[in-house]
Amino acid sequence: MEKRDSFVLRHLADVQPEMWWLDSDPLEPEPHSALVGEVGTDLCVIGAGYTGLWTALLAKERDPDRHVVVVEQYETGAGASGRNGGFCSASLTHGFLNGLRRFRDDMPTIERLGRENLDAIEQTIQRYGIECDWERTGELRVALADWQLEEMVEEARQRNEMGDHVEVLSAEQVRGRIHSPTYVGAIFDPDGTALVDPARLVWGLERACLKLGVTIYENSHVEWLEDVDDAMRVHTPYGAVTAQRVALATNVFPSLLRPARKYVVPVYDYVLVTEPLSDAQRESIGWAGREGVSDAGNQFHYYRLTQDGSILWGGYDAIYNFRGKVRREYEFNAQTYATLAAHFLSTFPQLAGIKFTHAWGGAIDTCTRFSPFWGTSHNGKVAYVLGFTGLGVASTRFGAATMLDLLDGLDTERTRLDMVRRRPVPFPPEPLKWIFIRLTQWSIKRADERQGRRNLWLRLLDVLGLGFDS
Ligand SMILES: Cc1cc2nc3c(=O)[nH]c(=O)nc-3n(C[C@H](O)[C@H](O)[C@H](O)COP(=O)(O)OP(=O)(O)OC[C@H]3O[C@@H](n4cnc5c(N)ncnc54)[C@H](O)[C@@H]3O)c2cc1C
Repeated sequence: MEKRDSFVLRHLADVQPEMWWLDSDPLEPEPHSALVGEVGTDLCVIGAGYTGLWTALLAKERDPDRHVVVVEQYETGAGASGRNGGFCSASLTHGFLNGLRRFRDDMPTIERLGRENLDAIEQTIQRYGIECDWERTGELRVALADWQLEEMVEEARQRNEMGDHVEVLSAEQVRGRIHSPTYVGAIFDPDGTALVDPARLVWGLERACLKLGVTIYENSHVEWLEDVDDAMRVHTPYGAVTAQRVALATNVFPSLLRPARKYVVPVYDYVLVTEPLSDAQRESIGWAGREGVSDAGNQFHYYRLTQDGSILWGGYDAIYNFRGKVRREYEFNAQTYATLAAHFLSTFPQLAGIKFTHAWGGAIDTCTRFSPFWGTSHNGKVAYVLGFTGLGVASTRFGAATMLDLLDGLDTERTRLDMVRRRPVPFPPEPLKWIFIRLTQWSIKRADERQGRRNLWLRLLDVLGLGFDS
């Protein structure tokens, strides 16, 4: 191993393969029993992450008399919701530019609905007293190259025309906030992102659901759905739920509706957390505003401070494994941790010697348009939302509200949006899928290295409406 590598790797010597958010947190709720026997309900929600719990909560808020049951295969928050970076962003389209490219006419409405959605999350947290370390600190997207900063100027103009309040910062201004020699500027969004403890948010939503009378079953893998005339039967190993309506909130796990599977692939994303910074280390990097930070490349990092003053550092590599399975063994990736650690140390060379203490990974439900899509089946008795592609902490609430509109047969501002009515282009079968994804990832990496210049493949994808720029 070369010398620089062993210097970097020493920072990883004390890493535990555990999620920082779950490390002996006293707020972790008691487990729920599995479903045994027969249950009848108005609405059965499958999956107890943000999407499922928001669906259950909003359903009860809309109609307190509606009987709602949630069925989860593991435990609440076991999927992406309990293990993410906690960036709660107003964007419903995985970034403004991605949305603008795909849904230009609807963007003013989508942007407004996104801001309203973020405000509604904050109000819900206050209303139910959810302790989730909510901090509306805003987000800095930092430019690491001049071409990225130039693009930000135009982006800021377009976003502010649609009601955002973003500001472009010079190198001096952004380095004044956070001291990194790599920054050449930034776009600052002061109110479009909040930071949150993701596991506490999911647990708080669970408590709010229980308070409103929702029943939650854990350790109950839903095996199949059966159409029984005017209702659906949801089958688990020890029981079944007969429900008037079924909401699928199963994210990256194999959909219970086979036709939906071709739209989503699991892409693994990884995270490191450092030990808490000393006062001297903290002073050396500034960061008094505690903003969430991401960098502007197509392959980007995201990072933030935790409540105890550690740094969470994730992103960059996005690993697709051949055949696209969701597997526990994929949640640890030594190679990616080394890459992340090296990038961390170039961003904050003054923190050399700091220890990383936690490392983990999780699967992201990636679709070809990088933003959620919806569908119904069984004459409108079943609905789903999928494809949040790594930006679902806030948009899952919007996804849930829209899924309920569809299940209730409502015609709303949400259901009229193109992004709700249209589905993404499906992925091809293997091995074409693997080749398609690897070629796209290789091209994106090259574009970052070549001042953003997109090669023929990316330009072809752009023409077909499949290009990624976020
Ligand atoms: C490492 C990582 C970092 C991320 N960082 C961010 C971030 O900072 N900001 C952001 O906005 N987004 C982020 N995301 C994405 C975000 O976490 C997800 O978009 C969001 O949590 C999706 O919520 P969900 O409820 O749809 O899915 P999940 O939380 O995955 O919930 C789905 C649930 O369904 C259950 N389930 C599946 N199939 C069945 C079945 N057959 N029977 C019963 N139950 C079933 C699963 O066990 C799971 O609990 C990140 C994701 C990862 C992996």
